[in-house]
Amino acid sequence: MAAPSSTSPLYRAGISSDSVRTCSTADGTTFGTAFIDPGENWCGVRCPVCSSDIEDWWGNAMDTAALPDGYFDALAVTMPCCSAQTDLNSLDYVEAAGFASYSLVTTDPECELPLPPASLQALEDLLGTDLRQVIARY
Ligand SMILES: [Zn+2]
Repeated sequence: MAAPSSTSPLYRAGISSDSVRTCSTADGTTFGTAFIDPGENWCGVRCPVCSSDIEDWWGNAMDTAALPDGYFDALAVTMPCCSAQTDLNSLDYVEAAGFASYSLVTTDPECELPLPPASLQALEDLLGTDLRQVIARY
């Protein structure tokens, strides 16, 4: 993959061309949906319908939904607090987190985070999909 030009949305966002990661096993043959977490920035998770703190329930729900290889398939869940039907990707993660089959990763970006809405929109337009910024610290 060629290095992005200085005018590309990826470059302006501080993302280099070697930082697109697919969620695959070590041998690269199996792709899946991975949980992209904020690491030390984790601040809990709430019900997207009634805002109850569901962190204790969430850990078990993640264990139940995880496949043996650590990836995820079905994300549908029923909230323990209000019985709402939703999915693990739609929960109210206090610091953004989510599920993805690929991620754009930049380490020590040369820009302020989170990316401004215009930069995020440019990336979404380029890729033709919605994006979620997960600001992780490890
Ligand atoms: Zn609820």
